[in-house]
Parts: sequence; C-alpha cells; structure tokens
Amino acid sequence: MRVAIAGAGLAGLSCAKYLTDAGHLPIVLESRDVLGGKVAAWKDKDGDWYETGLHIFFGAYPNILQLFKELNIEDRLQWKEHTMIFNQPENPGTYSRFDFPDLPAPVNGITAILRNNDMLTWPEKIRFGLGLIPAIVHGQKYVEEMDQYTFSEWMKKQNIPPRVEKEVFIAMAKALNFINPDELSATVVLTALNRFLQEKNGSKMAFLDGAPTERLCQPMVDYITERGGEVRLNAPVKEFLLNDDGTVRGFLIRGLHGAEDEILTADMYISAMPVDPLKRMLPKPWRTQEYFQKLDGLEGVPVINLHLWFDRKLTDIDHLLFSRSPLLSVYADMSNTCREYANPDRSMLELVLAPAKDWIKKSDQEIVEATLIELEKLFPNHFGGENPTKLLKSHVVKTPRSVYKATSGRQKYRPSQETPIANFFLTGDFTMQRYLASMEGAVLSGKLTAQAINRTQHSAISDRSSDGSQDVEIGTAVQSPVHPVLRAEI
Ligand SMILES: Cc1cc2nc3c(=O)[nH]c(=O)nc-3n(C[C@H](O)[C@H](O)[C@H](O)COP(=O)(O)OP(=O)(O)OC[C@H]3O[C@@H](n4cnc5c(N)ncnc54)[C@H](O)[C@@H]3O)c2cc1C
Repeated sequence: MRVAIAGAGLAGLSCAKYLTDAGHLPIVLESRDVLGGKVAAWKDKDGDWYETGLHIFFGAYPNILQLFKELNIEDRLQWKEHTMIFNQPENPGTYSRFDFPDLPAPVNGITAILRNNDMLTWPEKIRFGLGLIPAIVHGQKYVEEMDQYTFSEWMKKQNIPPRVEKEVFIAMAKALNFINPDELSATVVLTALNRFLQEKNGSKMAFLDGAPTERLCQPMVDYITERGGEVRLNAPVKEFLLNDDGTVRGFLIRGLHGAEDEILTADMYISAMPVDPLKRMLPKPWRTQEYFQKLDGLEGVPVINLHLWFDRKLTDIDHLLFSRSPLLSVYADMSNTCREYANPDRSMLELVLAPAKDWIKKSDQEIVEATLIELEKLFPNHFGGENPTKLLKSHVVKTPRSVYKATSGRQKYRPSQETPIANFFLTGDFTMQRYLASMEGAVLSGKLTAQAINRTQHSAISDRSSDGSQDVEIGTAVQSPVHPVLRAEI
C-alpha cells in the first residue's frame, strides 16, 4: 500500500519505518528543509550545532530503545550515571543528588530518595510516600483518574507539605511539560514517577552522541528509502483534498519558489503534524465531527532552548542538571555530555527556558541577558571576580507551540490514531498513548498508527475474501494479522 504521511518528526518517521517493515510504501512529506520537527537541529557558520530542544532519553523508553536496536545505532546513546542532580538555589554553585544504587526497583528509587537529606526532611519524605500509596496500590487506572487535578491540587489532596512541591516538583513539572505544577496535570507527574519507581533503569538518562537530525532521523530516512519508501523535505501539505464521501482523495503539496502545487495520491493518508497546524488544516466537512472537535482541547505550549558558548570550562559535570531557577528548567554542559559537541577547554551550555509564555516574544538579546543573570547564581565562581567568564556566542531557538500543554483534564481530548475517516489516520505525541508528550510517545504513536493501518488493510482483505474475491499475494500476508515488528511495548 502507498501511504502518504505529512510530517517528518519522530512520529512520522517512526510510522514510516514500521510501515516499511510491514511491506508498505510510505511517502513522508516534510514542510521544512530539516528533518525531526521538535528534535530538529542546525549547524551554524562555525560548524557548531544548535537544537530545538535539549533532549534526554530515559531507560523507561522501551519503544525508542527498541528502535535504536532495530536501526543498529544503540552505540549512539551515551548513558550517564544513574542519578538526578539539582542545583541548590539557597547555596549557589552547589548541588544535591539523588543517587540510585545498583539494586532492583523500587528499592533503588526509594533508597535514592531516603538518602537525600538536602532537599526534603524525613517527615516530608514520609508524607510524600504515604501520598503515593493510592497510585502504588491502584496503578495506572488511578493515575489516569488524577488527570482531573493539577499536580498542586493532587499534592494538597494527599496532604503532602507544600515544601515538597517547591523543592522538587516545580523543577520536575517544568522538565516534563515546560509549565508549573499548579497547571500541569497530576497524571503526567504520576506517570513519570510510576515508570521511574517501577523500572530499575527507568530514570537512567542518556544523551545522543550528536545532533538528532543526523544521528537519529537520518538513519530512519536511510532505512525507509533503502526499502523503497520516500522522504521529501520542502514539501508542505497545504490541504487535505476530499472525495464526495469525505474520505481523502489526495494531499495537496504547496509548490515552493514559484513551482506549481502538486497533488499526491495514496491508498492511506496520515497526519504526523503537531496538533496546532492540524487543527488549522481540518477540512470543513470534518469539523462537525466530535472526534475532530475534541482537538480544540489541545494546544502547544511555548518553550525556548538556548545555547551559550563560553571562553572556559564552567563545570565538569557530565549529566543533566535541574536548575531550580524561576527562569530556567533543565540544562547541561554539552561539551561534557555529548561526544560530537565535546570540548575539553570550553563549555557549551544548552538550557531550556520555561515557562516561556512571557518570554517567547522577547528578543534573543533580552533572553540571553536574563539567562546570564541566572547563571551568575548557578556558577558564582565564574561570573564574579576579576576575571569573569566571557560569552563567546549564543543561539536562541523559540518554539511558540511545542508539545501539547498537559494541563489538568487534557487526557480526554487526546485522539486515537484511528479517525472516523476510513483512509485517514493521525500520529504524533499528542495522540493517545501512555508516554505523554515525549520522544518515546512520538515513536510509540508512530508504531500504533502503523499497526492501525495494518489492521485496516487486513480487515479489508478478510471482507473481500468473504465476498469470494481473490487476492493471493495479500492473502498470504493475512496469516500474520499483526506484523511481529509492529508489536508496541506499552
Ligand atoms: C525544548 C524541548 C525539549 C524537549 N525535551 C525532551 C526530552 O528531554 N525528552 C523527550 O522524550 N522529549 C522531549 N521533548 C519532546 C519531543 O521533542 C517531542 O515530544 C517529539 O519530538 C514530538 O514528535 P512528533 O513527531 O510528535 O512532532 P514534531 O516533532 O512536531 O513533528 C511534526 C512535523 O510535522 C511537520 N509539519 C507541520 N506542518 C506540516 C505540513 N503542513 N506539511 C508537512 N509537514 C508538516 C513539522 O515541520 C514537523 O517536522 C522536548 C521538546 C522540546 C521542544
């Protein structure tokens, strides 16, 4: 089957990869001149990379890890020590760590929490542990039900002291969805805690060894094209063209630089676009349907990713850091954490600024200046004194609408990969899968969409066979209704 896919982010590429594995022919159309969507990266005139986001892979990402294995690029993940490191704002330049010992889960996580005495007192740890009991006893069902509360509301409901939120969960919420816990759905934090506590290496982190565009997306493109599929950059889908019965007749691709628009036809069509442009492109006849109306409940959250190159080494920490700064979320010295960005003499800090709603319209200069003021608190030894560090250059990447904003009550708006339109499917991190808005969620959604398409094809074939029509070649494929490589780990 020819399958047209709009969007070459991780979801679109993963979907295309799994469709090729099942013997289909995907044609991926990407509007921009760069692969990867929210993991896209660019090289500047000096040959230095800058990225849409600082990206961390977790041990609790089974589908991504399987994808790396299938692409034979597992060695590109640089695993770090099993720890979480937080800055201590009241003690500038110092850190507090949650070190996970080499013990089975959940003992390793509980030990990490109990051994950290900088951030939480014993009574706070006990209250927090007691508050988590319903999630432990009732599992994912309870976690899903808690979507009606923000994480702050859930903490209050569980009688957990407000200091626990201030010390740990503002940083965690900002890292998970670029918003504060008084907005973030309790489901998001509880899902992450569940994975981190239930899987021995769930919270273990890895950095990719270079730019995601080259080191992760390109191998997917090679895999797809070597098997007959296509990936086209600079091919923005302008409109979904419909048949009289409301099914898709074709994707209209906008002609760039004076070229004519082009119609691409296929057997099946997939949107792998983020939810915001998808909503704008919905054809009128679809808008009255409840499935598509629900998309109005989702919208992307703003976030800013900064890259700052300094004239010296600011730290030798080879890990992600939770800044616990009101302006910033997580950051890392990429000259330590990432092989391709390595530099023994100079730091390149990659930092996420969140929540970014008050900053997204400000100039790059204003954003960099505000960040440098925060860095004086994080690295007091290098910013004051007679010989302060010099900023050599910077890049600021703003994403006004990034992943869907996971405020409380959003789960019910997340669509299934199958739509009411027979030959049209959705994929993307916002579609329903249990890994929320993440790289793992995007890859898993791609796999689920490939599965859904395979199922549709096979049920169509069974219908035809029961009509007495013959299709020997495809009939053979029906013997394995779900292709083994499409089995998602969820
Ligand atoms: C700053 C930042 C930090 C992050 N950190 C992490 C992290 O540490 N760990 C983690 O797991 N996740 C992280 N994420 C989230 C992760 O990047 C996303 O969840 C994931 O990449 C989304 O993939 P996607 O394919 O669903 O969507 P996208 O990546 O948005 O892909 C959609 C694609 O569709 C294309 N498109 C749009 N309109 C059209 C059109 N009309 N025609 C054709 N193509 C179109 C877009 O250009 C884009 O390439 C982070 C995100 C950001 C922004």
